[in-house]
Amino acid sequence: MRQPIIAANWKLHKTIAEARQFVAVLAQQCPDPGPLDVVIAPPFTALAALQDQLRATPFHLAAQDLFWEHSGAYTGEVSAPMLVDVGCAYVIIGHSERRQYFGETDAIVAKKVAAALQGGLRPIVCIGESPAQRQAGETLTVLERQVRHGLAACQSAALSQVVLAYEPLWAIGTGVTATPSQAQEAHGFLRTLLTQVWGESVAHMVRIQYGGSVRPENIVALMAEPDIDGALVGGASLDATTFAQILMYGRK
Ligand code: PEP
Repeated sequence: MRQPIIAANWKLHKTIAEARQFVAVLAQQCPDPGPLDVVIAPPFTALAALQDQLRATPFHLAAQDLFWEHSGAYTGEVSAPMLVDVGCAYVIIGHSERRQYFGETDAIVAKKVAAALQGGLRPIVCIGESPAQRQAGETLTVLERQVRHGLAACQSAALSQVVLAYEPLWAIGTGVTATPSQAQEAHGFLRTLLTQVWGESVAHMVRIQYGGSVRPENIVALMAEPDIDGALVGGASLDATTFAQILMYGRK
């Protein structure tokens, strides 16, 4: 059984005070998420402030990016050991916004995934097709390329630590969610691909999140699909009450 995982990606939002307030409200409204990994990815500036606060909660801390070197002359970068030092358990890698605005390629993603795993962080590796690629019928080809290249440096033994996030670009921040069957088609394809490349037992362990306009109103139907193991939530994770509703999907 794969433990479901729901992550909040705050992107470029929230001061330290706002981040702390969010966690206080979330911990009050969802003190026991049950058998669910809850991950919060604030901006780098709020990581240290949340480290202590999260200790008293069941929530895990994540960074939104990392650099592949440990240390050196790389102005502006943050490494895996630094993220572990500040309490991170997870790191988001290859988000479509990083690919789109910062030129991240599958080769860069592969280096970052390897650095995360080597440093003891669980990478949440984002993949997904653009609207044009979907329209051209290239969705599965794109996903296959992103997975094969992005996880190229992963040994089978480490792969169970990887979380994949299927995030179709046309659904991110648009209010248009993939239907549960569209998402399941992609997730099922990814599970089969993982089986072919890394073997069945590993493929069964890898958690695959869906991301793209997830909200309290659509989380139940998405989570009912057999290969959807969680969600990566952007806009709807900025409000603690809304995010708590997503975490408590399926509860009355
Ligand atoms: C995201 O950026 O990862 C995301 C899924 O955003 P949103 O939920 O706002 O679509």
